[in-house]
Amino acid sequence: MDALIIEQLGSPVLRQRAVEVEAVTEDVRELVRRMFITMYSADGQGLAAPQVGVARRIAVVDVPPRRGPTHVLINPRVVAVGAKLTSGVEGCLSIPHVWGTVERPTQVIVEALDLEGKSRRLEANGDLARCFQHEIDHLDGMLYMDRMSPLARNMLLGRYRKAVTQRQRVENA
Ligand code: ZN
Repeated sequence: MDALIIEQLGSPVLRQRAVEVEAVTEDVRELVRRMFITMYSADGQGLAAPQVGVARRIAVVDVPPRRGPTHVLINPRVVAVGAKLTSGVEGCLSIPHVWGTVERPTQVIVEALDLEGKSRRLEANGDLARCFQHEIDHLDGMLYMDRMSPLARNMLLGRYRKAVTQRQRVENA
């Protein structure tokens, strides 16, 4: 099974609100399998369906040290966040080559459907909580840089454009 193409910054699907999954069918399970393959082949920790061009509320997560279970979030909803905020470095497969610091709640409780269509409550903290929030943001058309200050966001975009231009030059050389 091949990896899917990952949409890059500027692609309109990354800015849409993804629609709810009405039923967890074999199509959805197939998409989830392909999303995991795509995420691992790009060495990512999380991937949301809009990032592979599908505007549906589905995300997959596997945060290092990859010991625990992998997570599938279908129609995820943040039901509670802890009061404490932590700053952490984030990257995104749709904004490659750059990383930025984002402040988010350290703990989060998420409700989502699993691959059998059953509702599950997931409690996460630390990197996993950060990743859940990053992926759920994608389903609302939001990117991590939107949560940065305008100055930090502009600097990030500057680094991103530079990295993309340099890579294009190498490819054209
Ligand atoms: Zn992302």
